[in-house]
Amino acid sequence: MQSELQHPVRLRFAPSPTGYPHLGNIRTALFNWLFARHHGGKLILRIEDTDVARKVEGAIDAIIGSLRWLGLDWDEGPYLQSQRLPDYHQVADRLLQEGHTYWCYCSPERLESMRQEQARLKQPPKYDRRCRDLTQEEGHRLETDGVRPVMRFRTPLEGETTVSDLIHGPVSFKHETLDDFILLKSDGYPTYHLANVIDDHSMEISHVLRADEWLSSTPRHVLLYKALNRQTPHFAHLPMILGPDRSKLSKRHGATTITEYQKQGYLPEAMVNFLALLGWSLDDRTELLSREELIQHFSLDRVGKTAAIFNREKLDWINGVYLRRLSPEEFVNQAMPFLERDLPESVGRPLDPGYVSEVLALVQERARTLAEVPQLASFFFVDEPDYNAALLLSGKLDVTSATGALSAALRSASCIKDWQAASLEETMRSLAVELNLETRELFGLLRVAVTGRTAAPPLFETMAVLGKDRCLKRLDAALRLLSTLE
Ligand code: GLU
Repeated sequence: MQSELQHPVRLRFAPSPTGYPHLGNIRTALFNWLFARHHGGKLILRIEDTDVARKVEGAIDAIIGSLRWLGLDWDEGPYLQSQRLPDYHQVADRLLQEGHTYWCYCSPERLESMRQEQARLKQPPKYDRRCRDLTQEEGHRLETDGVRPVMRFRTPLEGETTVSDLIHGPVSFKHETLDDFILLKSDGYPTYHLANVIDDHSMEISHVLRADEWLSSTPRHVLLYKALNRQTPHFAHLPMILGPDRSKLSKRHGATTITEYQKQGYLPEAMVNFLALLGWSLDDRTELLSREELIQHFSLDRVGKTAAIFNREKLDWINGVYLRRLSPEEFVNQAMPFLERDLPESVGRPLDPGYVSEVLALVQERARTLAEVPQLASFFFVDEPDYNAALLLSGKLDVTSATGALSAALRSASCIKDWQAASLEETMRSLAVELNLETRELFGLLRVAVTGRTAAPPLFETMAVLGKDRCLKRLDAALRLLSTLE
């Protein structure tokens, strides 16, 4: 697609491997990907792994795995910040020489007691700038005392910095609120601020799309760009994702990792569609959009300023639509591993592929996730469904009339030669008339007897797939259950 933007469009997804990627992280990745693809630009994957203490084993693989699963491809990278330390030191040296930064020798204990004191006085936490004006000799002395300093940015004491954000418009921050933030830590690693700014510049990033929570860091970044005499990229801060109760999205709302959604049987296409609507919309109505349509229509103009609300039911609904769109064969392929994994152990393996296809043709209409399939389909596979006898009386019939109706149904069913949905239905409809029962009553009773449930796929198709033997056995078992109620 031809871009209407002038310069090369280059975006990056820059996760920190401090945990497995969750919905919010991947929504950011998706918006960057959509923007890059819409404008025919490039997407760079950069792993921001400079926080050594918070690194989580396996997180990088999970990030890459989640992007691959969702089909969000990138054009360059993954670059690892931990492998670019000399670049950061070089820039840090320059900033120091030019007087934009200074070494701070304050001990963690001093900083901690300062923080506590500020908390007690209900002041925002802030470094008191004790080392900002140390002379060189004072600095040397402290260094020879063995203190490992951090490098801080000399934030202007007055004035303000305005961030022009493509979603929020101009947002101004008073310098007095910004603190002298750290650029190099005492372990020699750069902080997020330094590495992020250096890399966005050296990787020629044109647009930074990231979560709202980073907006408060952006004036610091703008000050750094200015100190380095470099042009800032365009910024766009994406709305937060909140739970249905408008609190921060957490595990309680089902905000598990993307890997977890994959395990629960969501389809990548459905996930992409759902995530795109967390903060962006085409119009007030359209909920279903293919990947191609998303690329075609995505624009920051339609990204909201206010938080997006995570709605699990909507995700389930979208996923159900995508499941129904699969060809029957594809649905079987996707569902088979879930059946193998989750059907009760008493069900023999391997499963009969022919029977599985027939069962799944009925279940496909009803499943919202692949993980639901074994539960929806289990009564087809077990020897006898396990249910409470009282379920047979969930309609209006009492024990005597239910027993009469079921015995009659068993007799009629055993005479059926052509065990197909149509002939079953015809037989049972005439039986209802004969017994002077509403069809709903008789069918409801039959449904419980053959499936052990009050809700299941269409009754006669279900009975056809179950087969005559199984159905007769189940009707017989239901009669025995009824007799326990008398
Ligand atoms: N490493 C940051 C994160 O994990 C990146 C923020 C940004 O995109 O600048 O979200």
